[in-house]
Amino acid sequence: MFATLSDRLTSTFKNLRTKGRLSEADIDATVREIRRALLDADVAVPVVREFTGKVRERALSAEVSGALNPAQQVVKIVNEELVGILGGETRTLRLAKNPPTVVLLAGLQGAGKTTLAGKLALHLKSQGHTPLLVAADLQRPNAVTQLQVVGERAGVPVFAPHPGNQGSDDVMPAGADPVAVARAGLETARARQHDVLIVDTAGRLGVDSELMAQAADIRDAVEPDEILFVIDAMIGQDAVTTAQAFADGVGFTGVVLSKLDGDARGGAALSVASVTGRPILYASTGEKLTDFEVFHPDRMASRILD
Ligand code: GDP
Repeated sequence: MFATLSDRLTSTFKNLRTKGRLSEADIDATVREIRRALLDADVAVPVVREFTGKVRERALSAEVSGALNPAQQVVKIVNEELVGILGGETRTLRLAKNPPTVVLLAGLQGAGKTTLAGKLALHLKSQGHTPLLVAADLQRPNAVTQLQVVGERAGVPVFAPHPGNQGSDDVMPAGADPVAVARAGLETARARQHDVLIVDTAGRLGVDSELMAQAADIRDAVEPDEILFVIDAMIGQDAVTTAQAFADGVGFTGVVLSKLDGDARGGAALSVASVTGRPILYASTGEKLTDFEVFHPDRMASRILD
């Protein structure tokens, strides 16, 4: 991800290196190149506009510091502004004062929610937590089984409404509704002292008002401490409308970027925190359960400018 953007920004800065002093025209030309590079990477138009506006303003007013040459100053400004659009500080999962901490996952079908559920469960388990996964995606026929497979791989129990995990008592009768499953999952977590509950919900290919309402009902039933919106980083310019639809329909407290390993342009990754005002907590970088990282805006910005 970001290889092209990274190359283009780097060559833009390289052109500046030969200059002893930057004129307003030099800065404008640089900002234009940055704007084009970001737009070609599919970063949302309003985000690009704000970003380049700030970079221009700061570059024009930059004090000539003895330690940095003009090119380095521009790189520093771009780096700081990139950290800003990526959300600023690293934000970790907020844990409830009274466990279990309830985490609800929302997003389009195929965004990577179920995979993420397993990754997050494994990550939390490795930190000493005792998560329980809840299969409240009853829309897609395979979703429950898929979560069970993921749970098994992560070594984390799954509360599911199908007799797929016979031998366990973490089952509800088939045909149960997702809200009831989520509620029963929460009761189970309390009874068995799981300190984190991760609830997987259904998503459709497009934004769907019925499923949005269902996710909102699940939210009201389990009162999550965190609602994580999982978004495929390859979604391109649709990122903004999709994120906005989920913000309006369910609301969310944080974002997870999935498929950051893809070679697409990745503009969604660069737009979504800024557009929604919600921090990116995690990144999913492959199909394996260990392809998962806590998201650090500063490290991501450095990676892009590397
Ligand atoms: P859900 O419908 O939102 O639950 O999405 P899934 O978890 O089923 O993921 C959809 C597809 O994307 C599956 O084939 C996953 O293996 C794949 N997938 C999920 N996360 C990633 C990721 O970070 N990178 C890649 N390359 N594939 C992923």
